[in-house]
This record gives sequence, structure tokens and C-alpha cells, in this order.
Amino acid sequence: MTHDRTPCRQIFRLYYAAVLCFICPVFGNLLIFNLKIITLLIFIFLTNQGFVRRLNYLVETNNNTTIIVFAILWLFSIFVLLLVTFQQNWLIRGFWALVIAATTAVSYGFYAAGGSELEVLDVLELWQARHETGRAFDHFQHAVIKSGIVAIIGFLIIAYPPPKIIGKAKKLLTLFAWLPILPVLLFVTLIFIKSDKAVAGLPQQLSPLSIATAVGYKLSVHQIPARDTIKNPPKHAAKVKHLVYLVDESINPNYLYSSDGKLLQGFTQNQDKIANFGTSVSGSNCSARSNAILRLGATRDNLIQTVRTSPTIWQYAKKAGFRTVYIDSQESEKTVTKPNDFQNYMTSEEAKLIDKFYKVKNVDSPDLDYRLLEIMKAELKSDSPTFIYANKNGAHFPYSDNYPESAAIYQPVVSVHESRGIGSLLDLYQDGSMLPVINTYKNSIYWTVDKFFEKLFQDVNLSDTAIIYTSDHGQYFEPSSTTHCSSGEDAPATEGLVPLMLITDKKPLLLSFVGSAMTNYNATDQFSVFPTVLDLFGYSDEIQNKYGPDLLDPAPRKVSAFNTGDILGIISIETVWREVSKEERIKLVPNAPLKPITD
Ligand SMILES: [Zn+2]
Repeated sequence: MTHDRTPCRQIFRLYYAAVLCFICPVFGNLLIFNLKIITLLIFIFLTNQGFVRRLNYLVETNNNTTIIVFAILWLFSIFVLLLVTFQQNWLIRGFWALVIAATTAVSYGFYAAGGSELEVLDVLELWQARHETGRAFDHFQHAVIKSGIVAIIGFLIIAYPPPKIIGKAKKLLTLFAWLPILPVLLFVTLIFIKSDKAVAGLPQQLSPLSIATAVGYKLSVHQIPARDTIKNPPKHAAKVKHLVYLVDESINPNYLYSSDGKLLQGFTQNQDKIANFGTSVSGSNCSARSNAILRLGATRDNLIQTVRTSPTIWQYAKKAGFRTVYIDSQESEKTVTKPNDFQNYMTSEEAKLIDKFYKVKNVDSPDLDYRLLEIMKAELKSDSPTFIYANKNGAHFPYSDNYPESAAIYQPVVSVHESRGIGSLLDLYQDGSMLPVINTYKNSIYWTVDKFFEKLFQDVNLSDTAIIYTSDHGQYFEPSSTTHCSSGEDAPATEGLVPLMLITDKKPLLLSFVGSAMTNYNATDQFSVFPTVLDLFGYSDEIQNKYGPDLLDPAPRKVSAFNTGDILGIISIETVWREVSKEERIKLVPNAPLKPITD
């Protein structure tokens, strides 16, 4: 029988006949067999840093369907990778070993360099910056070395000859020689029908390949232009020495006022330093998209194109001679869907222009924003002009995590146990017990906004510093509904309603903004903030006008809108907007006064 021709079997027969070493050949075969499986699994385990974080995120958000799909894709990928390592034809095995080892190495190297898993936008930006490859290699030597080691180990594990497999099993293996293409295509489909977030945390042996395929396809279909550069420094001197762009999280403006229309204590005590634009409309109702719009010079009329090609806020700041600082005090485990320190579509290319990058870590939740304030205060002591973009943790869900016991001034509240996970929040809503949820949210605002600003005004010298304060999106409270990130043209308007203030003690500057806050009260949107920042940096009207009217211009639109779809144009270049009328702003924020308070 042909089965017996393999050397191992022959040896086995020989020994068997001599009844000397029964287990030797079986054991030898089994050893290689097990070794291949074990080393491959260890290799996969060690090169997928994003797995646990992604899973935590899915569990935290109670996203059961996605968890099941995620698990199936993982199991299928492992199965496919195992088949590859046991391919009998060395050419086929060697080919896949090369591809998989290279993919894993690139992903591993990218993670080692920037603490970030590759995403579509990263691949795009890397492609656009490919002329800088040499410089990147120099800069990230340690990452390149690590990635080289990963490549060699990965190749050896997969390419090392497996035990002989014969008969039907061998035929079946050969039949599946090109099977790894299937999961890659599956991931590509996921990217196109969902988004590139859908492949976050999936096996780095295959998923970067799908991202590259998706980007390659996009690039072959239409040219994606590179991000513009800025040629000239601003014409005028900057209007203020330091500028802080303070973006809060999940702030529904209604809760910044008491029922008699008074702003929170933290603000009213310092009313003479605030230009309050009332209720504004955010760029989007989801954190990542809103923040990207704020940083990347997006316009409402040409959203996708500008998100991709406008110079970033950092480029403008640098050209104007500002030092750039980024502070992120959000708890990544709860807000970052990909395993790195960059969130909100920030790429490593963008981050290169940030002089100081702070990621607040290892701090109790209620202290996150206060740590941010300390960093801000220290950075603003600098002699050189400083631009800070800061992501506050604010009133991020779960609300009860955001404040200490002592700040629970509104009662009854949701117990800590009940408030875990968005699913349990929905259950709570279904019980009809809205009051405890809103109380928990109000306590959150009391601690992370009211008390925060009280301290900010005490600690920060605002005589030559301006702060633009807003939130990434609003917060919607309704039984059986998510609080934000709804999609479509009918998303609840409240999800896009946010506060907007300019805070400074530089009097002439404040007065001009107080004046425009009178005309533009309840009429602005966040698209006007980017040109405002350019104005403060000293850029000419000509440059500002590319981004539409700023906060000092009369708001031109009767109806504002926030985006509820993809802003990167990866799935479709159609943009989806939820329009918000002035009447809705007034109706949905009943606590706010109808006119700005002047006294
Ligand atoms: Zn958010």
C-alpha cells in the first residue's frame, strides 16, 4: 500500500517488528505535529496586542452580535493558519509563510513604533508619506529590528516542514491551499460594508492584508490626494499667546443650566470672562468623527474631501509659531475601539506634529479631568506660544464612574452595579426609571464640568490665554435608545446639541467674542470653530474663508446639521446629515435662557 512508503511508517514497521520502540516514530511525528500547533498559537498570541482590548470594548458595550462574529472570524482564521502550516507542498507553504510573516511583521513594527494597530487611514497616510520611508526607518530603528525578528520567527514556524500527511487528508489540504484568501476577502467585505473599525483586533496575520487590499482597491479606483501643506506663516500676529481647544465628552447643554436659566456656579462666578454662544451643533454625533472634524479642517460643504486633504490644526499651529500639545484624559478601555493611544482617527502622521503628547493613565476616573487640568496649567506656564488640544473625559458613560461619592449631590442615583455596560443602561430605561440615570449624569456634570471650571478659573491665568470650550456631541436620554452615535437623517437632534463658549481674560478679545455671541446665540455650529482658531493664530481672512464663516462672522445658515455617517468616504462618498433647526435647539434645551445673559 502506498501509505506505507513514507519513511516514518517504514521505520515504525521495522521497530514494531522488533517490538523495541513502539512509541518512537509515533511520538516523533506527534512531537512535530504538536510543536507546529503550539508555536503557531504562541506566535499568534504574542503578535495580536489588540485582541484583548477589542474584546473588552465589545464586552463593555454589550455588543453580542459583534462578539459572535468576532469569535467566528478568529476561529476561522486560526483554522486557516493551521492548515497553511501543514501544507505538504513546500512552495505553497513557503509562499504563505512569507506573506503571513511579512504581514505580521509590518503590523508588529507599526505597533512598536506608534503603539497603534494599523487602520485604513494609517495605510492611506503611510502610502502618501512613502517618500519618507528612509527617515521613518531611521527614526523607528527599534521597531524595525523587532519587526525583523517577528518576520524570521513567523516564517520559520510556518515554513518548517510539517509531519507527512498522506491519502485523503493530503488531497484535502492541497484543495485548501489558497484558503487564506477567503478570510482576507471576508475582512475586506467587512471594511466596505461596515468600516475599518470592524476589523480592529482581528488576527494581524491576515487583517492588515485586508486593509492593504481595501486601500489598494480604493487607490486604483480613484486617486486620493495628499494632505495639503501650508506655505506661508500667518499675515498677522496671533491674537492671543496661548490657545486651548478644550473638547468635553458627552455634554448635553441643558444640564449646564439650572431650571431658572442660570449657568453652573463654576461659570457664573466668572461670567466676565466668558462669551457664551448658547447651544451649538456638533460636527457629528459620534466622538471620533466630531473630533476629526474639529482637528482636520473639515467643512460642511465638502466634508470628505476636506477631512482628507485640509492641513490639520497642528500644521496651522506650527506654521504660526505655536508649540503643540495634545492631552487625552479619556479612559481608553472604554472609548478607544482600537488598541493604541491615538483615538478619534488620529494617525501617526498627524501625531508627528504634536510636540507633547499626553495620555492620562493610571488615574482614578474622577481624577482624570483634574489631571488634565494640572498638565494644562503646567504647559500654559511656557514662555513660548502654546496651542493645546485637549480631550476631556467629561460625562462619558458609565456616568457613575466620573465622580467621587462626595459629589453625588443628586439622589437617587443608579447603583454602580446597575450602571455597567450600555445594555444594562438600556434595561434601566426599560424599567422606566429615568430619574436615577439623569441624576447620575447630573452628578457627573457637577464634578467634571462645574467643579472642574471652578478650579480652572482659580488655577489658570487667562490674561493672555483663550479657551474654546465645547463637547464632541450631546447626550440623549430616552428609554431603549442609545445616548449618541445614532445613524441616519432622523437621529435624535439632542445627540448633536453641545455647549460652545470662548473663555478669556484678555479684555478686547473677549469683548469682540461677547459681541458676536449676542448675534450668534443659539446659531453656531462646530464647523465655525476651525476658522476661528485660524483667526486667533493670525491667519488672513483669505485663508480662514476656505473653512467658512468663523464665530465672529454672523452665522449664515438658518438650519445647522451634524453628520451621522462615514466622514472618510471609505464606504461611500455620500454624506449623511441630521438637520437641526433653531426651534429644536430651543425646545430640546429648555433650561437655557432664550437670550444671552448680560450683566
Ligand atoms: Zn464622545
